[in-house]
Amino acid sequence: MSMDNQRKIYENPRMWGRTPPQTVLRRTELTTMAVPADVRTILEVGAGDGLIIDALCKTGYAPVALDISLNALEHINTNMRVQGQASQLPFKDNSFDLVLGCELLEHIPVSIFQSVLNEISDVAKKYIIVTVPYQEKLEWNNARCPACGCIFNGAYHLRSFGEKDMKSLFTEFKCVSLVAIVDVLHPDRTIGFELFIRHLLASEYLYCSPSVTCPLCFTPIDKRPSRNWIGWIAAGIRYCYRIINRRKTPLWYLAFYEKS
Ligand SMILES: [Zn+2]
Repeated sequence: MSMDNQRKIYENPRMWGRTPPQTVLRRTELTTMAVPADVRTILEVGAGDGLIIDALCKTGYAPVALDISLNALEHINTNMRVQGQASQLPFKDNSFDLVLGCELLEHIPVSIFQSVLNEISDVAKKYIIVTVPYQEKLEWNNARCPACGCIFNGAYHLRSFGEKDMKSLFTEFKCVSLVAIVDVLHPDRTIGFELFIRHLLASEYLYCSPSVTCPLCFTPIDKRPSRNWIGWIAAGIRYCYRIINRRKTPLWYLAFYEKS
């Protein structure tokens, strides 16, 4: 996917300004609680529609919000908004005591992933806070475009993170705390066998949302495809698996880094 397409999917106005679920509100609360007392200046890279920025403003900070999407930034009630790329931050080195990258890194294409980490590390003077989905099974949320057949993670997540990945993200910053947060009965939990039947045999991809468009041809993915009998078998397996597996799992990692 080109960078232009990458930007265009996030300019979809239907993606922003929706009421967040309780789990996301809890994540926002835990993220803002992790901000150390000696922090004066904050940058959030990938601020989206500003859930964390708003929470920080309420506690007396004047954070700077950067996002690739102008339509996302429209929702933020602060003048400190910058449209820009995470891989080319328009700030000098050590400009902010703390840099936040929350629900950002899983969206970054492999071609610019390292430069995004380098940029965050350069502009951060003391601390970095990162949140990402906890050991995400990317294929659970696959969507299929009915127009061009493109198969993609419906949340546009391109990468999954484990404990090792999180602890070694930055070279100049040390991971001093890594916690798994917000335990739930994961709404998309399933097993590989069920996905094999659903995706490969029934060609059925469940993910659809009014806010999602195909990253290649921009067709809205807002309707579930019709289900054939193989799809019904997959649905039965999923249902049984969920009755057996009632184990709660965390939704996100919250990682805190300090300059070493
Ligand atoms: Zn398409």
